Amino acid sequence: MDHFELRDGALYAENVAVAEIARQHGTPCFVYSRATLERHYRAFDEALSGVDHQVCYAVKANSNLAVLDVLARLGAGFDIVSGGELERVLRAGGDAGKVVFSGVGKTADEMRTALQAGIFCFNVESAFELEQLDAVARSLGTRAPIALRVNPDVDAGTHPYISTGLKNNKFGVDIATAERLYAQAAGMDGIEVAGVASHIGSQLLEIRPLLDALDRVLALVERLAARGIVLRHIDCGGGLGVRYKDERPPEPRDWASAIKAKLAGRGLRVLTEPGRAIAGNAGILVTRVLGIKHGEEKSFAIVDAAMNDLLRPTLYQAWMDIVPVQPRDGKVHRYDVVGPVCESGDWIGRERDLAIDAGDLLAVRTAGAYGFVMASNYNTRARAAELMVDGDRVHVVRARETLDDLMRGEARLP
Ligand SMILES: *Cc1c(COP(=O)(O)O)cnc(C)c1O
Repeated sequence: MDHFELRDGALYAENVAVAEIARQHGTPCFVYSRATLERHYRAFDEALSGVDHQVCYAVKANSNLAVLDVLARLGAGFDIVSGGELERVLRAGGDAGKVVFSGVGKTADEMRTALQAGIFCFNVESAFELEQLDAVARSLGTRAPIALRVNPDVDAGTHPYISTGLKNNKFGVDIATAERLYAQAAGMDGIEVAGVASHIGSQLLEIRPLLDALDRVLALVERLAARGIVLRHIDCGGGLGVRYKDERPPEPRDWASAIKAKLAGRGLRVLTEPGRAIAGNAGILVTRVLGIKHGEEKSFAIVDAAMNDLLRPTLYQAWMDIVPVQPRDGKVHRYDVVGPVCESGDWIGRERDLAIDAGDLLAVRTAGAYGFVMASNYNTRARAAELMVDGDRVHVVRARETLDDLMRGEARLP
């Protein structure tokens, strides 16, 4: 459930008319709902009540400082994949002690900064990373808490670009290798073995692959315990899907009750790293129809948002719902909704039946995750404004970029 609804024939974000936001702040713009973010965070937090747990929001899904701030105030931890994301968490008031650091290519600088900030855990993804982290921690006279990210080799049944738990993926280490690396890590002066992590993919629509992965990871935990390596926490990753069209993604509570059953009595603290399921339908992208163009075979609605603002449709062939902000009576036509960027891949939606005209506003729904964060300046287009609605107030949480912003740091030859 989200807080974007039709009221008296117009789309609202919480208590604010989306058309009014567009009038004041221009288009394209991303509009987020604070109440929706909070609701989704709480759904995970409450689903895990009764077990020692920490929900670590995956920052890469939407890293706006205001989004992180809203979640930090609820006690969220954070899953980061770069030093930049750590800086965002700290500036947003997040607690470094609740941060897990994932990613296959952490630099020594990033390791140092994260160690000095006192993060909760490094999710280590390779033998070379373990060795480097050991060296960096020793040089600082400290120990780095680690979990190995294991790759349980289960098929998450999702798009290949967002599937991460198969043998042929670059992520994590296979279970046999993990067992060897844990033994090595236990003898390293700069490493403190803390837990185990797995994350098998994104936009998962079934719980089954997550449970299969958990079984394999728990079997590893038992084999390690038998060798005297006792883990304190298990990080189950993120990946629960959201509804873009007619999908029926698992509810956090269904997932949580299934994993609680498997974890009962083991004394392991549970971490989870949801990104999309928290931010996805907490945001929309608002765009204006620049004009209608009827070709021989197709009609195009040309809008002021493009693939540089919203990459998911063309990158993943993703279907995202497109709705009029002020639905009107009139003749429905079938349109490809496309942006102004000079690429045939620049489309937001294809073959959509809409009653629209030039000047109308459209909203692309469920654009709160992997939306703005994937935006670029391709075609020297300024990135969109980001706004957060909180009840009946609207806050500018990222100003629309200016042309000066776009060219900052560039220089002509002397
Ligand atoms: C991307 C990512 C997540 C979040 O995935 P969602 O599908 O957005 O929930 C969690 N953990 C890791 C390691 C990731 O890379």
